[in-house]
Amino acid sequence: MLEQLKQSVFAANLALVKHGLVLFTWGNVSAIDRDSGLIVIKPSGVAYERMTADDMAVVDTDGKRVEGKLSPSSDTPTHIELYKAFPKIGGVVHTHSTFATAFAQSGRAIACFGTTHADYFRGAIACTRALTKAEMEKDYERNTGLVIAEAFKGGDYAACPAALIKSHAPFVWGKDENEAVHNAVVLEEIAKMAYLTQTLNPKAEPADGHLQDKHYYRKHGANAYYGQK
Ligand SMILES: [Zn+2]
Repeated sequence: MLEQLKQSVFAANLALVKHGLVLFTWGNVSAIDRDSGLIVIKPSGVAYERMTADDMAVVDTDGKRVEGKLSPSSDTPTHIELYKAFPKIGGVVHTHSTFATAFAQSGRAIACFGTTHADYFRGAIACTRALTKAEMEKDYERNTGLVIAEAFKGGDYAACPAALIKSHAPFVWGKDENEAVHNAVVLEEIAKMAYLTQTLNPKAEPADGHLQDKHYYRKHGANAYYGQK
């Protein structure tokens, strides 16, 4: 079932390696088929070089495995909560990419310092609150998804497709698994740029609001004009 999606999710997982976002078995990509409500996700703890498309796990939104001989990623409940909270997304990526993770570990949002950030993410990339002891002891991975959703209460998850989990690392999403991987690569790059910006000038201010708006809306929304028609 979902053979094409399995191929695509497999390729998207390998793309994380190619782009230098993951080491060993860290990181995972999933995609949801909104018609059936089924999620295809990387299996848990399988080396990327031995992985095949057939190894991808298929689960339902209760986390029950409906196909695949291998257990799904241990982060699956986080992916599921994001698909539930953000109905317009089709793909989710989790990595421990270095610079984005450094911000998460510092408990700091990534401010929008310039156009590279503004082209992709509207406003600062939020860092969630810490999970409580009780939230860690029971349903830790599910609660991780819930704190991300909580950080977006009233916010636009489609306009800012990433969040940093405090003391952990980023989760990134997109309309499908490929866009989510693309956004994860961009997130790491802008985290690096923000780190360097603040190192060069600890008093650096976020870019002016009108510049942020200009760059975001020339690529997104009804009046976008960037790229080919
Ligand atoms: Zn993680």
